[in-house]
Amino acid sequence: GYRSRAAYKLQQLDEMEDLLSDGDRVVDLGAAPGGWLQVATERVGTGAVVGVDLQRIDPIEGVETIKGDMTDEQTREEIVERVGEADVVLSDMAPNMTGEYSLDQARSVHLARQAFETACALLRPGGDFVVKVFEGRDLDTLRDDMEAEFEYVRTTSPAASRKESSEVYLIAKGFLTAPVEEGE
Ligand code: SAM
Repeated sequence: GYRSRAAYKLQQLDEMEDLLSDGDRVVDLGAAPGGWLQVATERVGTGAVVGVDLQRIDPIEGVETIKGDMTDEQTREEIVERVGEADVVLSDMAPNMTGEYSLDQARSVHLARQAFETACALLRPGGDFVVKVFEGRDLDTLRDDMEAEFEYVRTTSPAASRKESSEVYLIAKGFLTAPVEEGE
């Protein structure tokens, strides 16, 4: 069994969008408790999977984990240093819910933007990026900014997540430029 119901969302996203292939190097942001890591490591075979979260992630065979805050520049630098180049960057990050939708939504967009910037620093040309975000303000701007960096961006809601109706996934395929070298 999987550690989270979220695992089924990644399975559905992969089936719809063809994200994970044998040999891929995958970085998963907001990875605890690790359901997506379990699905990703099954699907990339000889590839590599790295998970990052504020919270500790119980070990998964073949998966490297980093404990850190993605809003912290040091964490982002550490990931780039440790991973080098990635084929796929995933983010299922979500803020701690306050119950006030406009605040939770704004935090979600902020986390999604941090994930997007990290993806731009990590992805090889042609690589893919998936990010969860709550619908609402500033989502169109984020999507427009992503469209400038990828061949195309699609907004989707896997069946497994339809109950939590405000969340969508942006699927960005075909990263257009080479990753930025750290320290230059
Ligand atoms: N995909 C995961 C799975 O299948 O197990 C579930 C992820 S859960 C919906 C969202 C995660 O985002 C939480 O574990 C939370 O700690 C993490 N998160 C939220 N803000 C973060 C941040 N600033 N940096 C790193 N992780 C963060």
